[in-house]
Amino acid sequence: MKLHPSVMQTALRYCGVRDPEDPLWKSRMEELADSIDEYICFHYAYRIYPISFQDGQPYIRQKKPKRLPLEGELARTLLSECTKVVVIGATLGLAFDRQLRILEKQNPAKAICFDALGSALIDRKLDDLQDSILAYLNDLEGWDASSPPCFFTDRFSCGYGDLPLSLQKDFERMLDLQKTTGIHVLDSGMMSPTKSVTALIGISDYPQPARIRGCAHCNLSSSCPYRKGGTVCHV
Ligand code: SF4
Repeated sequence: MKLHPSVMQTALRYCGVRDPEDPLWKSRMEELADSIDEYICFHYAYRIYPISFQDGQPYIRQKKPKRLPLEGELARTLLSECTKVVVIGATLGLAFDRQLRILEKQNPAKAICFDALGSALIDRKLDDLQDSILAYLNDLEGWDASSPPCFFTDRFSCGYGDLPLSLQKDFERMLDLQKTTGIHVLDSGMMSPTKSVTALIGISDYPQPARIRGCAHCNLSSSCPYRKGGTVCHV
């Protein structure tokens, strides 16, 4: 499988490798990348929900229960200009976990690389999915000069920052994740298969700063009021 160069670089970073050109690590990664496709069965589900705010704190509007609070400063900040959210669940599937367990017994160094490749790969697949959802929504809105497009916030996951991990159980129910993707949320809050992610993306009528991914990913970079004032919008 030809992996995007950014996947390899991210995987090397997850392994703590400083030099992405290190020949030993690079060849290990390339060897695993060649066959990783055999162990990937990417499944995903997503739904779009309206959100409202109480005292500045967002909550998802749905039928049962009527309100799902999105607690914490992260959701409050990222969603402050949003009217809807995309709730996503996605996984690389169980075959990846099986192969990881085999490698852990046979060759622990390879297992570390394989694990890192899986983490980098699911992130990349979610980036691609996010791009296609945004393109679909803007297409649906019939975007032209007179009707502004919609914009996404950064994607953020349960357990990241102060977004509660317990929300994963709600997302499992809302997206029927067991049936649609094979994802099970365990009582501990972890998920099976291990390379599974649940996430939120805010939808706004206004361009959104890249508060998590940083200025290099921000569509406001050329007109940023923060940077003009010598500061940034993120930590
Ligand atoms: S500081 Fe400006 S350019 Fe950087 S992420 Fe925030 S809004 Fe975007």
